[in-house]
Amino acid sequence: MDELPLRPELRGRTAYGAPQLTVLHQLNTNENPYPLPEALLADLGSALAEASRGLNRYPDRNALALRADLAAFLARTSGEPITAAQVWAANGSNEVLQQLLQTFGGGGRTALGFTPSYSMHPIISAATGSRWVDGHRSADFTIDPSAAVAQLREARPDVVFVTSPNNPTGTAVDLATIAELYDATEGVLVVDEAYTEFARAGTRSALSLLPGRPRLVVSRTMSKAFGMAGLRLGYLAADPAVVDAVQLVRLPYHLSSLTQAAARTALAHTDELLANVDAVKAERDRIVAALPGMGLTSVPSDANFVLFGRFADAPAAWQALLDRNVLVRDVGLPGWLRVTAGTPEETEAFLTALGEIAPAHRSSLGGSTA
Ligand SMILES: *Cc1c(COP(=O)(O)O)cnc(C)c1O
Repeated sequence: MDELPLRPELRGRTAYGAPQLTVLHQLNTNENPYPLPEALLADLGSALAEASRGLNRYPDRNALALRADLAAFLARTSGEPITAAQVWAANGSNEVLQQLLQTFGGGGRTALGFTPSYSMHPIISAATGSRWVDGHRSADFTIDPSAAVAQLREARPDVVFVTSPNNPTGTAVDLATIAELYDATEGVLVVDEAYTEFARAGTRSALSLLPGRPRLVVSRTMSKAFGMAGLRLGYLAADPAVVDAVQLVRLPYHLSSLTQAAARTALAHTDELLANVDAVKAERDRIVAALPGMGLTSVPSDANFVLFGRFADAPAAWQALLDRNVLVRDVGLPGWLRVTAGTPEETEAFLTALGEIAPAHRSSLGGSTA
């Protein structure tokens, strides 16, 4: 590949690649393990058949009906008066983030995120020609507002990412911190809320911060709590001017008629789809509660996964779990691994395997997070 006339910023890079191994217990990509409800599957069949009749025509370029449905969902679940003009959708929130970087980042511009966080933020930044700056978190993986504000003042980024709840650490960022970060930047502040539906009680969405903040963007996805990672549907809520701006870079007809039809059908089944969220949260809390008994600890989680440790050698612990048919994620944080919370059976298999490997692999630092 390097013999090709690649853009310099792509040289030496490797493509995003969570292992797609076929293992009995796949707990590495934060998917929802529950199958889609039968009633939704039946409706998808007829909706997709109906949409297929129109496949000789281009789809609705502006996805108006879908955006109205997404806005209604956000308004109903958040209590905020979100309208279709404030919502934009694309093929996964990754495409939403790419469009935001194409609009507000790019050549000569800078994006900043507070690492460790979602690995796609720097990857999409590089792919769009934006310079990436690593912002820092505290040793316990939280964002210290005054340190973060100082970093924003120094780097003056055009796009700022705050992942809340954060991936891979799991903890949500409080709204006061997000508001402070907004005031400390002249760039676009993107709050990536891919896991917000799993947040613990009392954790609030940044949607309530949108009024009066025209540079704030909240991004969401149907890949996690909705259990529709295969659909590829992500969306944002922001000031209508942001939605207008993103139109400048989106490809015409980027969202197929089939995707739009399937997403609208899924949204009509929101309550059934989200019915498993509480069950997944209960499994997450069960994992968290079991760790101290094994001499391990975790980072507080508002998501459908748990960052757990500490291990003397996380890659070795990862392999030992894989040898017991449990695939978790090595996110590259020394001492830590990430496990997705799913069904009770998956929790059982994970905790059993972990109990077997913990004595040989846990670090002598044991329960301390720092
Ligand atoms: C999984 C995830 C996404 C989802 O990406 P899609 O393209 O919508 O599947 C976005 N942000 C974060 C932080 C994630 O972990």
